[in-house]
Amino acid sequence: MATKLNCWEFKKCGREPSGVKCKEKGVCPATTETSCININGGKNGGRICWAIAGTFCGGIVQGDFAQKSVSCMSCDFFKLVKLEEGDKKFTLLKPGQKYAEISKKTPESRNISLRKR
Ligand code: SF4
Repeated sequence: MATKLNCWEFKKCGREPSGVKCKEKGVCPATTETSCININGGKNGGRICWAIAGTFCGGIVQGDFAQKSVSCMSCDFFKLVKLEEGDKKFTLLKPGQKYAEISKKTPESRNISLRKR
């Protein structure tokens, strides 16, 4: 069976705790999100990074799920995990996270939450 890669292994971003860029640029929250252990077969948030707020993809701090959803769903890693897990096993959201609730946020409230980071 093929090894399931975590996002930092696939993207080679170096933002995991032992990564080459973590000292200089910080550790990405996807790598330490313990509420997501083993979701989609990943380590911490490594295979559900799209659902984790404040990840560092693209070299900048991303927003919450509602803000990230469009760009993450067109990401090659998101598509890979979805394909590998298949329709029956694929998990889109973190435990307790509800798509309806977060997609109801207004653009104004999204901007406020972005500025607070
Ligand atoms: S979410 Fe992006 S920046 Fe964060 S560890 Fe995964 S690939 Fe790297």
